[in-house]
Amino acid sequence: MKRIYNFSAGPAILPEEVLQQASAGVLEIDGSGMSILEVSHRGPHYEAIHHDAESRLLSILGLNPAEWQPIFLGGGASLQFAMLPMNFLSADQSADYVNTGEWSSKAIKEAKRYGTVNIAASSESDKFASIPRELNLSPDAAYLHITTNNTIEGTEYSDLPSHGKTPLIADCSSDIFARNIPYNQFHMLYAGAQKNAGPAGLTIVLVRKDFLETANTNLPTMLSYKTHAASGSLYNTPPVFSIYVFDLVLKWIEDRGGLENMERCNRRKAALIYDALDEYPDIYDPAVTNKADRSLMNVTFRLKDKEREAEFLAGAKHRDMDGLKGHRSVGGFRASIYNAFPETGCAALAAYLREFARS
Ligand SMILES: *Cc1c(COP(=O)(O)O)cnc(C)c1O
Repeated sequence: MKRIYNFSAGPAILPEEVLQQASAGVLEIDGSGMSILEVSHRGPHYEAIHHDAESRLLSILGLNPAEWQPIFLGGGASLQFAMLPMNFLSADQSADYVNTGEWSSKAIKEAKRYGTVNIAASSESDKFASIPRELNLSPDAAYLHITTNNTIEGTEYSDLPSHGKTPLIADCSSDIFARNIPYNQFHMLYAGAQKNAGPAGLTIVLVRKDFLETANTNLPTMLSYKTHAASGSLYNTPPVFSIYVFDLVLKWIEDRGGLENMERCNRRKAALIYDALDEYPDIYDPAVTNKADRSLMNVTFRLKDKEREAEFLAGAKHRDMDGLKGHRSVGGFRASIYNAFPETGCAALAAYLREFARS
């Protein structure tokens, strides 16, 4: 099997071991004579996988099963932008949002349909190249929403913001499982699986049970978190194959020492690339200059000489590196180096950055 260095932002690289296990499962699951793609979501083969994924998810994130409800959904993180305020924001309430980039802006746009949005902080005037530290929290906010890692802009919260008594809710789509952060400080978090957790099609939601009690109930059945919580994410057919692969990824994380070791590896990997960029300030423009705000997952940079962009990409392709083009809204380059991305690939990019700078 040929494997290149895939820097794609999402859907993104998965561990090779997981791909091998998943391809076996596509042929036959558990000696059942059936493919994982063919079994009932209410049968024993799938149900074991479903419950295994739920408990591993909580265990890896350090969340107490008595207090937390995992929910597996479809619709992407984008559906959560609307489902969150539908469930937890009423027309007479306000919610605090921090605007740190394109995904936060989309979350804000949806929340405004359901209640009042107070922008507690924004880094828009800084072209989203930093994480704002000072929050202007409103006293009665239903919740405070942040985006822990800004996939497009390449910024990440190094510490969770202080939020007083306001429930903290986060879009963790591009950095869930990347670092050992205190996940129990959130009231709810959600993530599309296709960045750092598995294949597209699955959205992971984790919500505190006491907070879930306060959710609105006058909602379409499928858009109510309570529906999915009450049925253990089996109200309708869940994204069976994506959950199967997600469970394999969770085992892979556990086998590698959990979040602590993920973080250690991710810090080492990101440093390889940032160090090479910082060594050549005449050639490279890292998008994020404040080092504390730099993402461990998405390294964003530009060339000082835009004329050389095509040459840079062609050289990368020649070295078996793909997916380095920046998001269409910001341009430049982006190296997405999620958990499954190998350190050798980061070293290869760092070597190429130095070679290109000297050429
Ligand atoms: C990719 C991404 C999204 C959108 O995810 P979909 O699953 O495509 O809806 C939202 N937020 C962040 C931080 C992302 O990286």
